[in-house]
Amino acid sequence: MAFVTSDSPRSARTVTCPACKGPSLFHPDNRWRPFCSQRCRTLDLGAWASESYRVASEAPEPSSDAPPDSDRQTH
Ligand SMILES: [Zn+2]
Repeated sequence: MAFVTSDSPRSARTVTCPACKGPSLFHPDNRWRPFCSQRCRTLDLGAWASESYRVASEAPEPSSDAPPDSDRQTH
């Protein structure tokens, strides 16, 4: 068993960028992997952050469609 651990070009492979769904080089040289670029990585993180912020800041409206408490039965 002789595994070559040098960074030969054959060790690089292409994966799908989670942000733009484009080809991304999965290689130690690509510090943004699995994203294809810093822009895609920032985009993805930004989308995630804004989404969580939106959910966190949006408080659920109470008693909008909920049935009244008197209708609830105890077992
Ligand atoms: Zn990308």
